[in-house]
Amino acid sequence: MAKGLIIGGGIIGLSIGRELHKRGYEITVIDKDKVGYGASWVAGGMLAPQSEGLDVGDFLNFCLESRDMYKEFIDELEEETGVKVNFWKSGIFCPAFSEEEANKLMETLNKYKTLGLNGEWIRREELENKYLSLGKDILGGVLYGDDGQVDNRLLMKALRKYAFDNFEIVEETRVVRLEENNGKFVRLETNNGYIEGDFCVITAGAWSGLILDLPVFPIKGEMIGVDIDYGEVDRVFFSSKAYIIPRFDYSRLVIGATEERVGFKDGNTVKGVMKLFNGLIETFPHMIDKNIQEIWFGYRPGTTDLYPILGEYYIENVYIATGHYRNGILLAPITAKLITNLIDKNEGNRYLDIFSYKRFV
Ligand SMILES: Cc1cc2nc3c(=O)[nH]c(=O)nc-3n(C[C@H](O)[C@H](O)[C@H](O)COP(=O)(O)OP(=O)(O)OC[C@H]3O[C@@H](n4cnc5c(N)ncnc54)[C@H](O)[C@@H]3O)c2cc1C
Repeated sequence: MAKGLIIGGGIIGLSIGRELHKRGYEITVIDKDKVGYGASWVAGGMLAPQSEGLDVGDFLNFCLESRDMYKEFIDELEEETGVKVNFWKSGIFCPAFSEEEANKLMETLNKYKTLGLNGEWIRREELENKYLSLGKDILGGVLYGDDGQVDNRLLMKALRKYAFDNFEIVEETRVVRLEENNGKFVRLETNNGYIEGDFCVITAGAWSGLILDLPVFPIKGEMIGVDIDYGEVDRVFFSSKAYIIPRFDYSRLVIGATEERVGFKDGNTVKGVMKLFNGLIETFPHMIDKNIQEIWFGYRPGTTDLYPILGEYYIENVYIATGHYRNGILLAPITAKLITNLIDKNEGNRYLDIFSYKRFV
């Protein structure tokens, strides 16, 4: 069977590798660091096409289709690896902190309702009865019951296990260049020599633009994690202040995320962390007493139009799956299916046309 080289072992690379492996392909994953610790480790793990307030259109539909695939994706992976991933259709609540935000949320809710999507307005009084404290400016908000979350670190643990059990893994090896001959892929050049294969898939996240001439760049995000008591917050809160994510096992409350275009500038900043803490206590004032567990940051793979880049490249046997920006955890199942069908069956898809690299040429 053909040998596929996957450049970058994040959620996108490992999910594609897994689909291809199931169809009989031999897979090698090459990562400049350890597999599974890029943006996919750093993320919040929200599956939030509606809460994100995406405009009605192709990208929303793409995200909704992937959300529909999630349960099966996780059930299968848990079965294959024995690693429990804590997929949780917790619902996501979007609180309004002003009349203006309330109007905007209602407008989006009504647009989604015309598409037959679920959602409902929840009054402040109902929230006051439910939670230990509630920010004084919260007027109420919209609950999207079909949005949810997954513990992305557990998910990466499961995908890592699948990968180490079934693929060849080459870690701490940076791909620097693709070699081609007459427009056809030949091999990869790395800082540790050459790697041969029949085809390759570029899934290098925020670093993809350093390998191929693609408009992909890092959009930095900072995050914090604090203690939470069992049942204290039973769904994600997603607002202009911050998003607040209780893990299914109540081991942690994750708060995210800042967004900055500062290149690969490592480290957490005072202003970033302050914004997140303020967002937390403006939503739940009593949380000021919580213990801090961890502070971290990472790089979303952004593109100039903020949509992913998927499908064939102009070099034969080179495929791209990158630029998933804020929604790469959500979009892993659909990306893996479409890219695998393209490689395995030469099967096209309208999303591959819409999100082709050709839109930038
Ligand atoms: C703070 C934050 C919060 C987020 N929250 C969410 C969320 O709630 N929901 C959601 O759906 N998405 C979220 N995202 C977005 C999501 O995390 C990303 O879109 C997704 O993880 C991208 O996956 P990836 O596999 O493309 O990239 P990554 O996970 O970054 O993996 C890329 C891999 O490629 C490797 N690599 C790079 N260059 C090379 C090279 N030259 N050679 C070899 N290997 C290389 C890297 O080491 C890395 O392991 C968030 C992102 C951030 C930063």
